[in-house]
Amino acid sequence: MLIAHLNRQLLELDAAALRRRLRIQTTPCQPQLQLLGSEAPLLAFCSNDYLGLANHPALAQALADGARRWGVGSGASHLVSGHTQAHAALEERLAAWQAAHIPGARALLFGSGYAANLALLTALGDASSTLFCDQLNHASLIDGARLSKAAVQRYPHADLAALAQQLQCCSTPLKLIATDAVFSMDGDLADLPALLQLAEQHDAWLIVDDAHGFGVLGARGHGSLEHFGLRSERLIYMGTLGKAAGAYGAFVAAHPSIVEWLLQRGRTYIYTTALPPALAHALQSSLDLIEGPEGAVRRAHLEALIGRWRAGVQALLEPMERGQGGESGQGGQCGTPARLHLLESRTPIQPLIVGDNARALSLDAALQARGLRVPAIRPPSVPEGSARLRLTFSASHTQAELDRLLAALAASLQELPS
Ligand SMILES: *Cc1c(COP(=O)(O)O)cnc(C)c1O
Repeated sequence: MLIAHLNRQLLELDAAALRRRLRIQTTPCQPQLQLLGSEAPLLAFCSNDYLGLANHPALAQALADGARRWGVGSGASHLVSGHTQAHAALEERLAAWQAAHIPGARALLFGSGYAANLALLTALGDASSTLFCDQLNHASLIDGARLSKAAVQRYPHADLAALAQQLQCCSTPLKLIATDAVFSMDGDLADLPALLQLAEQHDAWLIVDDAHGFGVLGARGHGSLEHFGLRSERLIYMGTLGKAAGAYGAFVAAHPSIVEWLLQRGRTYIYTTALPPALAHALQSSLDLIEGPEGAVRRAHLEALIGRWRAGVQALLEPMERGQGGESGQGGQCGTPARLHLLESRTPIQPLIVGDNARALSLDAALQARGLRVPAIRPPSVPEGSARLRLTFSASHTQAELDRLLAALAASLQELPS
């Protein structure tokens, strides 16, 4: 019964070109990606390893040193016996980074960003509260909101007037706004200064999910709060350590009472094994790299790559648009094919909107045939009718690799059935 039922649904996914599949790599995280069973490596534009630290020799060495000092496993949850000096030292340093923006901040480590968001929204969002969520928030914030006892209001993406209206009408004692700082599928930045201002006006708190900003944004890579120069006790910061930081894990930095409450009531903090202490040890090296001169050089290179990509793609798309008479079908929501276009993103997340699922898959396949791995992202990860190629850039990409991408994209677009 169950198996037949699942197989039917899987066939439906196939029919809608929505079936996902795993690929096995034989290389570590790097732009040149070798898949098991294929001859040539692929040039990949899809990791979140924005600074190229995931496979950095200094970080690998630090992990080996950490394993010699601490072994591998933590053996228990933080509150039982898994919390070591390596964890405590990392928390202190992460707190110090955000304390410039959240006075007196304390930090707490989590196994992942997903777990951190679940803890935040369920521990803080009680029955006397309302959670205000951007409609494009990451799945982990959505799931946290679903699991919390709070009333949940979603506002249209980046629509601060709509949010202000919702806050105005809200009468619960506690109000929490939750937003991605960098939206994971569109790459745009939330207007954090304006959101903070709204939070202050309406006596609300602002939860900032900086999964894609930590390490990338800000002069020292401290993230989106540094980038915008914000400072307020009302900020609740969540940063992840598996993207630009090149490792695994996450942390929350906030007012000490908020963090103490997470320690008491955050179920995904309490009922799970602490991060390997060797990893906490290694992450110190990652933070050294991020805020040191090497991090600055890597961020500058990344920015240059993004600028070159955007200029290159605009040059490819302009003649196509003229060929199509320049009609404006941006959204593709009503069944009309969307015009290929870039979104307004200056971050390493650079989506090329295609619209139709099958078209996005054809482009993905055409690029793969040319030795590139540029994933098509389809609903439900993105709204219906906005299937896209989602490219991410890393400081470990070279300019020559970017040029190869642009040439392959030009050739693949030529092949696309109209
Ligand atoms: C990746 C991501 C997360 C989850 O972080 P993990 O450490 O991978 O669990 C949370 N929020 C956003 C916006 C993300 O992109």
